[in-house]
Amino acid sequence: MTTSPVATALASLTERVGNAAKRAGRSPSDIRVLLATKTVPAEIIRIAVERGFRLLGENRMQELRDKHGPLSGFSPEWHFIGHLQSNKVPDAVRFASCVESVDRLELAERLHRRLEAQYRTLDVLVQVNTSGETSKYGVMPNDALALVRRIATSCPRLRIRGLMTLARFSSDEMVVRPCFSILRQTAGQIRERAIESVGMDVLSMGMSHDFEWAIEEGATQVRVGTLVFGARQFSDAHYWPGAAS
Ligand SMILES: *Cc1c(COP(=O)(O)O)cnc(C)c1O
Repeated sequence: MTTSPVATALASLTERVGNAAKRAGRSPSDIRVLLATKTVPAEIIRIAVERGFRLLGENRMQELRDKHGPLSGFSPEWHFIGHLQSNKVPDAVRFASCVESVDRLELAERLHRRLEAQYRTLDVLVQVNTSGETSKYGVMPNDALALVRRIATSCPRLRIRGLMTLARFSSDEMVVRPCFSILRQTAGQIRERAIESVGMDVLSMGMSHDFEWAIEEGATQVRVGTLVFGARQFSDAHYWPGAAS
């Protein structure tokens, strides 16, 4: 049996996550790997899921809808990690077990109303713009606490678990690491307030080219695509504004 490139890449990823954790004096088991599966067909994702990588993320609702069925036999945990348009809220509630990209009260309220009608709750992360780029989604770090407070007050069916960010797109450690550090500090400030029913245990940060720095800065979840599945056909500007083309 030949080993698939995906399986080889997963083994190397696991090793690198473990090494980064140890360097930071952390336990490898404290870091979850989410596979960012945009543009990857279900048959390929299956190779990863069969090897125990059950945490998957999509940033386009149509792709999540399409892949949900074919992979449902493996009960993966689907997170929505892209910009969520209000008209996609019903699908988000239906197909995702966590929305990592809540960045405005209006969106939180729509999710809440939908959940209320179904007597359900949903895990969410608040997306923070740590890069200072105006083109990126996410609440500004200084406004994160206020947004968390308002969501906690008016949207009790959303369970805030932590924060998510996309760092500045760069290969320069001095440019990227501060973004991760801002997310960790922002979470710390929110945690200090001990807001009822708000958890700040999840820090979702780090991608293929920067996940080791993210782990060293405290990430509890990294989101990796390219490193496992290969380069995508589309530029990332297709998925979020301001990314490298
Ligand atoms: C695609 C994507 C990732 C993973 O990016 P790679 O560079 O392919 O590892 C992480 N987070 C989000 C929000 C994404 O859309």
